[in-house]
Parts: sequence; structure tokens; C-alpha cells
Amino acid sequence: MVELVIEKSQTFNVVARLAAPSASGGAVIVGAHLDHLGLGGPNSLAPDKVEPHLGADDNASGVAALLEVARTLSAKKDSLSRDVIFIAFSAEEAGVLGSSALVSAKPAWLEGAWAMLNMDMVGRLRLNELSVLGAESAPEWRSLVETACEQSRVKCAASGDGYGPSDHISFYSAGLPVLHFFTGAHNDYHKPSDAPAKLNAAGMAKVAEVVSALAATSKDVKLTYTKFPAPVRGDARSFNASLGTVPNYGGGLPGVKGVLLDDVRPGGGAEKAGMRRGDVIVKLGTYDVGSVEDLMFVLTQAKPGETVTGVVVRDGKRVELEVTFQEGKRR
Ligand SMILES: [Zn+2]
Repeated sequence: MVELVIEKSQTFNVVARLAAPSASGGAVIVGAHLDHLGLGGPNSLAPDKVEPHLGADDNASGVAALLEVARTLSAKKDSLSRDVIFIAFSAEEAGVLGSSALVSAKPAWLEGAWAMLNMDMVGRLRLNELSVLGAESAPEWRSLVETACEQSRVKCAASGDGYGPSDHISFYSAGLPVLHFFTGAHNDYHKPSDAPAKLNAAGMAKVAEVVSALAATSKDVKLTYTKFPAPVRGDARSFNASLGTVPNYGGGLPGVKGVLLDDVRPGGGAEKAGMRRGDVIVKLGTYDVGSVEDLMFVLTQAKPGETVTGVVVRDGKRVELEVTFQEGKRR
């Protein structure tokens, strides 16, 4: 006999705004997550050890760099043409819950924002090589990143769409160009041995310099958001059928039992049916959909090409849609 007890506790994002003298270009958001794994738990890669997981690289390094960016930019705030929003996110390790909740709350500064710059694991710069992920989320990034990296004499490898397992995905899914700064994987990842002594402090300062330069980009520089199809999550599973949904894993929409969509993949069954970001799927055919698990179940039961009536809740109203399942992923 197993008893499961759900423990809830409240946690907070920390948000600060640096106001530019005459801001008009849309805010730039600079962020890093402040949480880690505590004494270990399910996300630890040393599950036999119940001891403090220090998280020096993941992500004390990012928070330290965030403070350095704030220090740098506040010293030159008279020259800024965009407001800068600094955010230390909570509950990233539990599935980007802090950033997801914040984006869902639609704060006023998010409307018309220019970009989101995320620092997650920036403490282990080696061979002076910095990964800049998300660089394909806007075509203008390449030359902007190249210039900033050259100025700081860092070798940057810029690549990738805006999907990635950190807080920038919440902003990319909401339509913002993003960058994720990352100094690379290592054996101490998610283990108690991710310790401060292993950090490259000078390297962190360089990352902060690159991010500061990008955050100070003139309001005249526009970015063109580029949307990529969302990757299929949970790829270890196989489904009969697919809908091309990107479910929200951050607890959904309060008060509505169903699957909140963070996005729909272009060309997928959900998009063709007229579903869109913000819809909550509550029913597919004869099945009530109360959770992501229910949706997965429907996808294992459905046949590709089969059309059913789906129900979504949109702006508080139930909307019926004809949904045709597509071929699922098999492995
Ligand atoms: Zn992290």
C-alpha cells in the first residue's frame, strides 16, 4: 500500500525594473533561476545521496551574473533606451514553473517586450567558449551576438531555436525572441559536487559583459521573431496518434480542469482544428480530458485520420471544434 501526500508550498519570483530615461523600444528581460535541488530528490543524478546539492553552476552562477548585469547597466542607465526587467525565477527545476506562472500573469512590461536573455549554468567557461542557444529565434541575433562576443573576446557558438529546458522557453512560447547563455555540461550536473570552487569567476564576468552589451542594444534595433515547430516532448513514449499540442506543465489554468496549451505546432492536428495558445482542452471525442496524462491516453487510443469533436475552454467559454488526429511518433 502506497500513500501519496501532495505537499504544497508558496515560492516567489524576484523581479526588478531598471527604468531607462525615455524608454520606448519595449523592455528587455534578463533572467536566471534561483532555485536548485535542495537535498536531492527526483531530479538529482546522485539519488543515493541525501545531502545539500550546492548548485554553484546550476544556477548560482546565473544569479551572480544577473546581479553583475544589473550593476553594470544601472551604472549607465542614462544611456539606455529600453527598460530592463531583471528576474530571478523560482521553481525552474520543477519544470519552469516560476517563469511559466509569470508569463501567464501577463505583466504590463511583457507586452511589446524586445527579447528575453536567460543565463542558466554560466559558471564553467572552458577554452573561452560560450554557447548561445536560441540564436535562431530571430535572424538579427547572429550579428548582434557576434559583435557583443567579439567586444568581450569570447568565442561564441550561436545556434538553436528557442525551445530548451530552462526559463527562456516560457518567453519563446509567448512570442519573444530569446537567448540562453550556457557554458556547457559537466559531470557535477545535479550532484552535490556542483561546488563553488569549480566555478570560473572571470568567465562568469565575461558572460555578464556579453549579456549587458546585448541588453543595452538601442531601441532602433528590431528583432524578427522566428517560430519553430515545438519538439515532441516525452519522446520515450510512443503514441498511435498526435495532435501537435504543447501542453503547459505549470499547473494549467486555475479553476479549469483540462490541458492548457502553451502552443500548437504549425501544421499539426490541433492547429488545423483551430486550437491556439491559451485554449484549455477539456474533451476529445468521448473522453474527458482533465490532465496531460488523460491527453496521452487519448493519443494512445485514437487512430490517425480519425475525426472527433473536441471541446476547449477559451476566454471562459466552451468552444467545439472538429479535430483530426495525425500519425503519431513510433519508436
Ligand atoms: Zn538550471
